Amino acid sequence: MANFAIDAVKATTYDAIVIGSGISGGWAAKELTEKGLRTLVLERGRDVKHVTDYPTAMLNTWEMDHRGQLPLKIRQENPIVGKCYAFHEGSAHFFVKDAEHPYIQEKPFDWIRGYQVGGKSLLWARQTQRWSQLDFDGPARDGFAVEWPIGYADIAPWYSHVEKFAGITGNKDGLATLPDGEFLPPHEWNCVEKYFSQQMAAKYKDRPVIIGRAAHITKPQPIHLQQGRAQCQHRTLCERGCPFGGYFSSNASTLPWAAKTGKLTLRPHSVVHSIIYDEKKGKATGVRVIDATTKQMIEFYARIIFVNAAALNTNLVLLNSTSSRFPNGLGNDSGVLGKYVAFHNYRAGISGEYDGFLDSTTDGRRPNSPYIPRFRNVYKQETDFLRGYAAGFSANRISRTNQDGFGVDLKNSLANPTLGGWSVGSHMMGETIPKETNYVALDKDLKDPYGIPQLKISIAYDDNDDKMVKDYQEQMTEMFTAAGFTNIRVRDDKRNPGLDIHEMGGVRMGKDPKTSMLNKWSQLHHCKNVFVTDGASMTSTSTQNPSLTYMALTARAADYAVKEMKKKNL
Ligand SMILES: Cc1cc2nc3c(=O)[nH]c(=O)nc-3n(C[C@H](O)[C@H](O)[C@H](O)COP(=O)(O)OP(=O)(O)OC[C@H]3O[C@@H](n4cnc5c(N)ncnc54)[C@H](O)[C@@H]3O)c2cc1C
Repeated sequence: MANFAIDAVKATTYDAIVIGSGISGGWAAKELTEKGLRTLVLERGRDVKHVTDYPTAMLNTWEMDHRGQLPLKIRQENPIVGKCYAFHEGSAHFFVKDAEHPYIQEKPFDWIRGYQVGGKSLLWARQTQRWSQLDFDGPARDGFAVEWPIGYADIAPWYSHVEKFAGITGNKDGLATLPDGEFLPPHEWNCVEKYFSQQMAAKYKDRPVIIGRAAHITKPQPIHLQQGRAQCQHRTLCERGCPFGGYFSSNASTLPWAAKTGKLTLRPHSVVHSIIYDEKKGKATGVRVIDATTKQMIEFYARIIFVNAAALNTNLVLLNSTSSRFPNGLGNDSGVLGKYVAFHNYRAGISGEYDGFLDSTTDGRRPNSPYIPRFRNVYKQETDFLRGYAAGFSANRISRTNQDGFGVDLKNSLANPTLGGWSVGSHMMGETIPKETNYVALDKDLKDPYGIPQLKISIAYDDNDDKMVKDYQEQMTEMFTAAGFTNIRVRDDKRNPGLDIHEMGGVRMGKDPKTSMLNKWSQLHHCKNVFVTDGASMTSTSTQNPSLTYMALTARAADYAVKEMKKKNL
């Protein structure tokens, strides 16, 4: 009997466990297996194999039952995820439906999730900008949250490391606010976008308009071909899954790479319930998992654990990991676990028209668009709100098609649209300030279908966010007017927090264990063999799309963890 028990423990013991297989978990899997660790990746959702599990990737719109739209019934059953622009007939199978995984909105919060191997890496919009030192300095300079324990110099080599592998397109713009990376050739502008960029450069010293930086392979390098990935085809059907691997996803890139090492065990249908803490050893020894198919609880063991369940679920796992040493959640001596959650504010937008360049139009598609890096409060406080916003920008020729008729007549009218002027538009990407009052916690009564407490989310905008919306509208109106755009209209769609899918914090990094959860190596201050490297670890949000930073933090922490294991410190 005793031997059976020892064998059973051996069979479920690994060097490392990674919780979650999305963008950050995929990176943890790649780095840890490459460094020789037998790594178990636990993923709550089903498996999604690259290429074969993208059922809609090669369908034409007319080959889908509802021509790409979702029936009213599905929309009505999904008032939350139904708001996400990327949720449609071609992609709905990669999104969590509202009824499947309930949570409590103490205040309205649209929680958009992808529970499957690859997580949201299949669905993301692939914008990837580095942070600058100005972003890391934010909390200390402006006096909110806590200081970051790391700066740009700590993470810069890891940005390079992940960019080269993932494949990032961009232009070297030489901006202090948005450091250049290891770029593949940039995407092209259209003439009105270029015109706007030139106008802004002429009028402002500090408002460059650049082409976006995005995780698309514009010119495959040997490292991408070795991953079996090819040049992006500009199909712009990305959220259906890309059979070419033209954009970065865990499924196309990090997970198959990790599997090739022979060191990876990927276990789908494995809902992590909590992390096991051994009081005598003073460290975590493994995780408790509920098998989603049998509903049985199983334990797995490892020397180190990476928590990469995506920001709010990582909070949930740690809050649910209680012991007599940590009654309020693993590593939570400070009491800040679940608190100081922040997000991005995409509420505001602007549209207009331009009557120039009527001899030109666009040709083909482009999975990217121009980007306006943050220009407010960058070097000094100049407004009545803290921090600032970046903005997207794009221009398109207005074309109208006559859709009457059948057969050849219809095809001809579709192929020969009537061209109008140009439509131009932008949306705001604002930083929000992490506050103690924006928090997540476990509900005392309600459980999910696996018996795990439901997450209670209590997050709201504040006055700072409202002022930022107003400033964006004013500044962009000035900029659009200066460029000669007409029919300018601003909007504030008052969307709920969450819909921008960049929720961060709750397990923040910091210098002081009394006010933060993680040290500068993304290690729990009070349980050193547990690492958190997804959005939960972010001390502040800045304005950049965050996933590139999660990737870099993960690769950096994995490197450190393995070195510490070799020194027998872990
Ligand atoms: C439509 C859309 C557009 C976006 N655009 C951008 C963009 O342009 N740029 C950008 O930077 N970001 C973008 N994002 C956000 C980006 O997708 C996330 O920041 C990123 O995926 C986070 O990586 P992650 O590893 O933390 O989480 P995920 O990729 O969500 O992966 C988490 C994984 O953990 C699993 N999991 C959760 N709980 C458990 C548990 N208890 N046990 C086991 N497994 C668990 C989940 O099933 C999931 O597979 C976008 C997201 C969406 C949906």
